Amino acid sequence: MLKSAQGRMSIVLLVVGLLIGVAIGFVAFQTPAQPIDTSPTPAQPIDTSPEVMSVEPVPNSAFGPAIDQTKGYLVEEIGDGLYWLTEGVYQVMFLTTGEGVIVVDAPPSIGENLLIGIAEVTDEPITHVIYSHSHADHIASAGLYPSDATYIAQEETAALIARANDPDRALGFGLFLGGSLVPLPTLTFRDELTLEVGTQTLELSYKGPVHTPGNIFIYAPEQKVLMVIDIVFPGWSPFLDLAVSSDVPAYVGAHDQILEFDFETYIGGHVTRLGTRGDVEIQKEYILDMQNNAAQALQTVDFFAVANEVGFENVWLLIDTYFERLQEECTRLTLEKWSGRLGGVDLFTPGHCTRLMESLRLN
Ligand SMILES: [Zn+2]
Repeated sequence: MLKSAQGRMSIVLLVVGLLIGVAIGFVAFQTPAQPIDTSPTPAQPIDTSPEVMSVEPVPNSAFGPAIDQTKGYLVEEIGDGLYWLTEGVYQVMFLTTGEGVIVVDAPPSIGENLLIGIAEVTDEPITHVIYSHSHADHIASAGLYPSDATYIAQEETAALIARANDPDRALGFGLFLGGSLVPLPTLTFRDELTLEVGTQTLELSYKGPVHTPGNIFIYAPEQKVLMVIDIVFPGWSPFLDLAVSSDVPAYVGAHDQILEFDFETYIGGHVTRLGTRGDVEIQKEYILDMQNNAAQALQTVDFFAVANEVGFENVWLLIDTYFERLQEECTRLTLEKWSGRLGGVDLFTPGHCTRLMESLRLN
């Protein structure tokens, strides 16, 4: 069952539940008072089995390395002084160079553990900070880094950060995430920038708004590591509505742009583990399948049959019902093949289908 239908069903169940509750209360009120049983009720185990939660189990291929919960983060060297650090949902990358640390991003969900994790493996100070893009959930703890570091971003990201940094805005940047205003970029570029510090080289490039304007590809040629945030989610369906990407064709095309790089390890910025070329290829296949299924739904779901059912009087009801049928058909076709293969595929496929259909209709 899809989200909106589920929502309606929940409301129906809630109303039915309330009515039953009132009826039981009424009957209880009519019954003569019984001695109150004060013996403790044995605790009932909470049933979290998939049937009750109505969600698919997460496939084993989605799980990443265990995280020591007493520390709250994991830091691991991928190769030659290049590390990744995660708390289990967000990921950052950093490199020791012999002359200082280059770090990419600062998610508030990791917060102070960014500094603790880096200090766990090196005494070098943080000298360079790269913003992968402007979204607060990935950078709003950058205020923790040294103020005299070089802050690097693509021009569009710099402009968006400048706008977000407005001290007069009612609610601060990333406030609800535990973040705050971040240092403005001090080194910006438009298309490409090669950063060479000590022993390390990073190639930064901008290929359009693949997730949001200013979202960059960050490539370490020595280690064959590619970091692109919020595009590919190794082992999982992408986050809500194609990872809330601003430009659907650019998002779809980003998979091929990623595969043009000679990389062995992919850092996507999210979920449980690092990725491989295989993960990128799998997600590309999933997205293209959904796109085909969205096209098929647009060609097969009969708008006038829906109109016969709900009438033309309430135009938004008609459109809403039609879109719901399109989403159901695209989701049904997609899950026939993808069910059980990616984490959360049952939860987020409907939203991805709708984004792809909107894009097919409009772009
Ligand atoms: Zn983002």
